[in-house]
Amino acid sequence: MDTLPEKPPSAVRRQLRQQALFGCCFCGNPIVQFHHIVPLSELKHHNPEDMMCACPLCHDKINAGAMAESEQREAKAQPFNLLHGFAEGQLAINSEQLVVDLGSNWFFGSGAKLAVDDKPLLQLAEDARGRLQLSADLYDENDQLLALIERNDWVTGDPTPWDIEFRHNWLRIHAKAYRISLTIDAKVEPVILTGRLWRAGREFLIRRRLLTIDPRGLNNTFQNLGFAYASLNITSGSGKAAILADQIQGEGKFFNWPVPCPDRIAHGLKFCKEIRAKLRRNKKGKRPVP
Ligand SMILES: [Zn+2]
Repeated sequence: MDTLPEKPPSAVRRQLRQQALFGCCFCGNPIVQFHHIVPLSELKHHNPEDMMCACPLCHDKINAGAMAESEQREAKAQPFNLLHGFAEGQLAINSEQLVVDLGSNWFFGSGAKLAVDDKPLLQLAEDARGRLQLSADLYDENDQLLALIERNDWVTGDPTPWDIEFRHNWLRIHAKAYRISLTIDAKVEPVILTGRLWRAGREFLIRRRLLTIDPRGLNNTFQNLGFAYASLNITSGSGKAAILADQIQGEGKFFNWPVPCPDRIAHGLKFCKEIRAKLRRNKKGKRPVP
């Protein structure tokens, strides 16, 4: 067994994540490492029966010899998340720009970005330090809630997703085998989202270079567009789609990029600023009648 790969095979890692419900068996932390209960010094192996998920802190405690094998086996049999019934974590997004990339289209500003029947599936907001916060409702095609992301905090729904991979600023949720529901890559700017957002049997299919609305029905595609305070909304009954202005700002803008456009972020944010300034002017103008 000298040829044992250093990293456990992906199927073993996934099996361990699924068993532990996507968290440390001891404390539920979603950042996990793969611990060998039967130490590698005794046996070169990646046997899932003799391995478990543990966060870096708990893993360190085990490696320091501070946790008996019986205690490890107990946690493997009854992992923290399974006892609590859900998995959760916090996505770290450092971006100070309110913009996301959906299929090469950039959506700027706070508020809803994708919606079905005016109910947002994807929203942007900013925290007290002006950093981007993402919210998303993740349903499968049968309208069952797989996961919720509320201002960067994610939690699994019921049924729980098939797999979740998480690395601080990168999150991937699989609805089932070979079916990615959502990938959020917050290592880059703008943050890139890909996947399939469903609601009431309607779908937003977000590929890396293309956003398709309701691919089985309407099949409208969007590519290389900018949306400032504007969202895409599908009416579930008719399947019709529309670009809607943000309700709070009262105005939205949808545009093609000028060619060449050296600084897309600055360009989109400029539109947002203009819309906000207009809202402020309108509010000032509406003085109550004495
Ligand atoms: Zn832990």
